Amino acid sequence: MYGTGLAKGLLLTLRHFVDSYVDDIRYGFRKYHHSTDNFGIRQGTKTKGVITVQYPDEKVAVPERFRFVPFLIVEDEDHPTRAGKDWCTSCGICAKVCPPQCIWIVRGNDPNTGRPVPEPEAFFIDIDICMNCGYCAEYCPFDAIKMDHDYELASYDRTTHHIHDKERLSKPNSYWRGIAPTRAYEEMLARGTWEHKDAAKEARRGAASARSSSSAPAAEAPAAVAAPAEAEAPAASAPAAEGATPWSEDDAKREERRRKALERKAKRAAKRG
Ligand code: SF4
Ligand code: SF4
Repeated sequence: MYGTGLAKGLLLTLRHFVDSYVDDIRYGFRKYHHSTDNFGIRQGTKTKGVITVQYPDEKVAVPERFRFVPFLIVEDEDHPTRAGKDWCTSCGICAKVCPPQCIWIVRGNDPNTGRPVPEPEAFFIDIDICMNCGYCAEYCPFDAIKMDHDYELASYDRTTHHIHDKERLSKPNSYWRGIAPTRAYEEMLARGTWEHKDAAKEARRGAASARSSSSAPAAEAPAAVAAPAEAEAPAASAPAAEGATPWSEDDAKREERRRKALERKAKRAAKRG
């Protein structure tokens, strides 16, 4: 029948109209109280009707994957070893992939040796040119540049105010984890650590060299250290020493490893024909 769709549409509008008043009665005067909690309830899935957001007193919460202009991650001030340090290594990949070419990086140099160091001396983004595509954040191999949720950047200055320098771009890691907890968690799983990739690598290297340096005297002077080590912690020291490195294996294990390696080599040779 002609006009059914029109009637349905009008009924829907009427339902929204009525729901708005029903919702008002449900919330009473709380709707005029601009507390964050209250606004959260009003925006919840149970809320019905049409609501006017009283911007700027009230703001619609942005989804976690919302992206505005980029920012750079730096370590938090309370980080035990790298407080305030940049995650950016000034590799320049973001500047290369940026479609409108609005990123400008100056690589840092060691003042003593003059050699390049993996941190930016200067970092600029012209956010008037930035089109919020997020490529820089997608391509960064160090998770050092992220898209911000802060969209209130209007100003009366059209010259330099919107060229964000390193100081303005830098935000602590805890800020990123606060605005995008799910993404930060996914990135942590991919990296295998909450720490910066390089920092984690350094820590592993340090731990490995500490282990090898602690095992070295034992190899050089076994007779001198054997007695105290056994006396202090025999159970803990035994597994660490046994089989930790190829040169600390017993003869049978070494022979077994050699046999397997020869087998692999023979298989590879057979494949090559
Ligand atoms: S933000 Fe990432 S991609 Fe850009 S220079 Fe720094 S480390 Fe490289
Ligand atoms: S979001 Fe896109 S346009 Fe903006 S700086 Fe990053 S790559 Fe360039």
